[in-house]
Amino acid sequence: MMSVKTHLRNLFYYLMYRSRVSKLIGQSSGCIQLLYHQIVSCNATFLDKGPVVHHCLEDFEQEIRFLKDTYRIIGMDEFADTINSGKGGGRPSVVITFDDGYLDNYTLALPILKKYQVPAIVYVATGLIGTNGMTWPDQIEYALLKTRTTFFRLSSLWGEDPVSIETKAQKEHINVRIAKALKEVPDSARKCILQELFAVLGVNPADACDRKMLNWDEIREMASHGIEFGAHSHSHPILSRLPLEEAKRDILLSKTILEEQLGKPVRHFAYPNGRAEDFSEELRSYCREIGFDTVSTVLYGANHAGSTDLYAVKRIGARSPVWMMAGEMLRLVLRGKASSVRNGDMAC
Ligand SMILES: [Zn+2]
Repeated sequence: MMSVKTHLRNLFYYLMYRSRVSKLIGQSSGCIQLLYHQIVSCNATFLDKGPVVHHCLEDFEQEIRFLKDTYRIIGMDEFADTINSGKGGGRPSVVITFDDGYLDNYTLALPILKKYQVPAIVYVATGLIGTNGMTWPDQIEYALLKTRTTFFRLSSLWGEDPVSIETKAQKEHINVRIAKALKEVPDSARKCILQELFAVLGVNPADACDRKMLNWDEIREMASHGIEFGAHSHSHPILSRLPLEEAKRDILLSKTILEEQLGKPVRHFAYPNGRAEDFSEELRSYCREIGFDTVSTVLYGANHAGSTDLYAVKRIGARSPVWMMAGEMLRLVLRGKASSVRNGDMAC
């Protein structure tokens, strides 16, 4: 149940949105990076993990209209130049980002981005492009949706405790629990636990028939409409859970493949998952060394010209409804400095 404080905050956000007060903000060096993953039709079947992961198409269009009307929507190249020069200017700015490289970014998001003529960047895990493969959190969701099993035991995580997945709500709860647990173990252990999960559920995500991610032709077509592409690793591991050299190889491979396919340098990277514990100082230095100009995280807050670390760019998860997003963005811009509050688990 929502607290009185949350109700009051939401009322404040709603009134700020309805009064269109965001449009009155003058000069600001603030830049907010919004994070999306999938854009879905509102009646699609999925296990809900919040609007940062599955974002309803109608909400998305409403948000883009609001952002276009209120903020300067810029690309990552302009963002990097602005932060480097230390000179903000004009209205506060927004960068629209998508992680992973989902097919629906092409089928559903691109028409909206074209309609309103706004830039965006898509961070792709190159190993999944053009395949029927999925990120490992998506593999868990796929297996839970496809299985005919109504309860199981996952001994490597929970011993002999039975887990019931009779209802969609139970599946959603378990989906989040498993993903959360697997983010905290070494990469090799994660792979073993996933194999056990798929065996007990009787589903192998490698057999999926439908392509969930973009292919290279779609990426090139999106690029021709002004959409930027950044690297997001090759195999989408949590990089800090891999041996350092392996993590470096995975990052470099994604940059190399993307550059070959696009025929131009790739200057921007986003860490898979992106929490503070998902990367390290060594990886940060390595990203700079191999030629990335920016690295995005899910550390929470606005970015500011002259003070933001371009190798730990902050992002906020896209919220819905639009008035909630508008209120949160206004609060961050008015605060004038990055918040120490963190995003919740954004399962990317
Ligand atoms: Zn991701």
